[in-house]
Amino acid sequence: MTERVWNFSAGPATLPSRVLEVARDEMSSFNGAGMSVLEMSHRSTWFEDIIGEAETNLRELLAVPADYRVLFMQGGASLQFSMVPMNFLRGGSTAAGYVVSGSWAKKAVVEAKREGEVRVVWDGADSGFSTLPAVRELGVEADSAYLHVTSNETIQGIEFPPGFEPDAGPPLICDASSDFLSRPLPMSRYGMIYAGAQKNAGSAGLTVAILREDLLERIPDGLHSMLDYRTFADDRSLYNTPPAFSIYVLMLVTRWLRFDVGGLEEMQARNLEKAALLYTVIDESDGFYRGHADPAFRSAMNITWRLPSEDLEKRFVDEASAVGMLELKGHRSVGGCRASIYNAMPIEGVRVLRAFMQDFMQDFASNS
Ligand code: PMP
Repeated sequence: MTERVWNFSAGPATLPSRVLEVARDEMSSFNGAGMSVLEMSHRSTWFEDIIGEAETNLRELLAVPADYRVLFMQGGASLQFSMVPMNFLRGGSTAAGYVVSGSWAKKAVVEAKREGEVRVVWDGADSGFSTLPAVRELGVEADSAYLHVTSNETIQGIEFPPGFEPDAGPPLICDASSDFLSRPLPMSRYGMIYAGAQKNAGSAGLTVAILREDLLERIPDGLHSMLDYRTFADDRSLYNTPPAFSIYVLMLVTRWLRFDVGGLEEMQARNLEKAALLYTVIDESDGFYRGHADPAFRSAMNITWRLPSEDLEKRFVDEASAVGMLELKGHRSVGGCRASIYNAMPIEGVRVLRAFMQDFMQDFASNS
């Protein structure tokens, strides 16, 4: 691959070069089919193999127990904000608990309130969403329909530490969009996790959900077919035409994770090493760079920080972009800078950014 930039976008985000190369090589003929995955029937045996391998890879990587189902859907994680309460809150007699950890959790609450009673069990607004609670200590009522958490807040750059999941209580439902497959998970502590694929798992247009089978029994009758998890579970996500190419890209990404990287423990180690390269620059900058996140809850995926002024932030982003580091501007709702360094961002890219941050700070010091 030539002329690649370092792409720090929060999503869609950079993909492993290996994945792009295989997709390119198979673009005119997938596996002897004489056609690309873009063109083939989702009922073909070729596509059956693709969706089958995608599921197997996910099950292997996350050690998904046999009584969990893997669903491939569309509508983004945003549609899950609605489908979760439609399927598990509607018509019930109890409330659902929500941890309001940041911008994405807030959006999930808006949709859940349309379906039933929502109990906000923790709200980080007062801290500007810079910190997170100990979920195990929140005292969530056991009869709640479920407890919804967001494992990584993409905009604020805060992430629950490993092992934060309670081992008892109502079903834990997690929006894992921006840290899915970045580290191992104790899957059996979750009722369900869901994630848009376009950050760590593939390309846009695909949402993955992994849910415990017995939850399907709680779904009220009368939902529209495409909004009912049972439709996807019963037909192995082939009730209608799925986002076939995105499932193919996810299959390639998960194959890369299993066989090139060697699994999620190794991926986690690499991700922590990359994140530390940037957090140490922030910590050693005497306040020139100010991290947004409480150090105990720093995200390994989205690193967020401020500079002494908005002018400097703009200069930083512009100058970085001029030398091939793109998308470092923070989300418009919070400002500052953000570097998204998902699984596929090579450590070389992070080293280049680290050196740029150090140089930028030195230039500022010597010119003022
Ligand atoms: N949740 C989180 C944590 C996200 O980061 C995003 C996307 N940035 C979403 C939900 C919404 O995802 P989508 O755009 O796939 O609907």
